[in-house]
Amino acid sequence: MTTPSPFELGEDQRAIRALVRRVAEEKVAPRAAEIDATGDYPQDMYDLLTELGLFTLPFPEAYGGADSMLSSCVAVEEFGRVCYNTAYLLVVQWTPFGTILAGGTKEQKERFLPGLANGDLRAAFSLTEPQSGSDVAGIKTRATRVDGGYKLNGGKIWCTNSAVSDFIVVAAKTGESDERGAVNFFIVEKDMDGFSVGRKEDKLGARGVPSSTIFFEDVFIPEENRLGPEGEGFKIVMEALNKSRPIIAARGVGLAQGAIDHAQAFISERHAFGQAVKDFQGVRWMLADMQIQTEAARGLVYKAAAAVDAGLEGNDLAIQAAIAKCHATDTAMQVATDAVQLFGASGISNEYPINRYFRDAKVLQIVEGTNQIQRNIISRIMLR
Ligand SMILES: Cc1cc2nc3c(=O)[nH]c(=O)nc-3n(C[C@H](O)[C@H](O)[C@H](O)COP(=O)(O)OP(=O)(O)OC[C@H]3O[C@@H](n4cnc5c(N)ncnc54)[C@H](O)[C@@H]3O)c2cc1C
Repeated sequence: MTTPSPFELGEDQRAIRALVRRVAEEKVAPRAAEIDATGDYPQDMYDLLTELGLFTLPFPEAYGGADSMLSSCVAVEEFGRVCYNTAYLLVVQWTPFGTILAGGTKEQKERFLPGLANGDLRAAFSLTEPQSGSDVAGIKTRATRVDGGYKLNGGKIWCTNSAVSDFIVVAAKTGESDERGAVNFFIVEKDMDGFSVGRKEDKLGARGVPSSTIFFEDVFIPEENRLGPEGEGFKIVMEALNKSRPIIAARGVGLAQGAIDHAQAFISERHAFGQAVKDFQGVRWMLADMQIQTEAARGLVYKAAAAVDAGLEGNDLAIQAAIAKCHATDTAMQVATDAVQLFGASGISNEYPINRYFRDAKVLQIVEGTNQIQRNIISRIMLR
């Protein structure tokens, strides 16, 4: 018997792919355009993911999960192929999960992880502030020591899912220093006095999952809601983000494949100069290039996910995860752009699905560390 290479999906992953593909086609695809058009939170899709038990996928077996980043990526890819927002519901839940798994105490894990796994709890992750997104050390939100914990003051923007979340993992500086090491993470619960959720962004893409401003006015955070020892939060969370980065990349692969599906169907039906558009060689080569790039991205994503599952850490993982995120999301943008081109004017019309892919692809190059920041990570590790 031969051992399967990490680039091949195992039996479990193939079963997840078959299940998610069927559900995505039958139940998710028919809702995708409406979710994007209205920008309303897709509670029905959340319920569907909960019913299917899919939130558990990356969780350790102790929480009823499959403990598999590769399986998680496959699920995100298949949903992302038909509906960015439904795939996003999984991703937005898994980012705070990863940080608590990496840095949480036993008590924090017992309190928060089972609910995140079975869908009873929703969560968000919040770093970005008006004056600083990429520059994490530039945050101004501060947690000042008081008896039994901290008082949190400040504000955040672009906190996705905060409007529907039970708790949020929030970055704030402690002590007097303004250095990176002063950044720590705290679990802010929705009923805490002084915490509020503000305005929802009107977005170009990723429209179904709300991104909002959030505010902290003297919010008391008990000591037991700090993630990891004070001074170590930043390192713990950055390592956790490296591990969840393949999931972001998987969204790019799914989006690109979905854009190809739509483009292929369109050029097969559309005629020009007395022949099907698909029979022009220039068009065929475009389609082939779109698939070449997408297949390459898929390989990088599965490789990075398999590396997480194999326990790779530190720079060895960071570079693979950054390469996968960067390539897959740049590919999503290029493929979605070419797909719109193949649709002609119909690509611009809201009557057709393809401009949704184009708008959502742009988001992917910016979130979870812009692609310039990913290139910084890659070159820093190469040149160290
Ligand atoms: C749909 C959406 C959802 C989001 N959800 C969340 C969320 O849930 N939680 C959260 O905390 N944040 C969230 N964000 C914010 C996101 O993480 C930030 O937008 C991102 O990190 C970039 O920060 P910025 O927008 O402040 O851009 P800036 O950091 O101001 O960057 C501006 C430009 O300069 C470039 N740049 C900056 N520094 C460098 C450098 N050193 N080298 C090269 N180029 C550089 C950037 O790549 C970018 O092109 C979300 C954003 C979007 C669009």
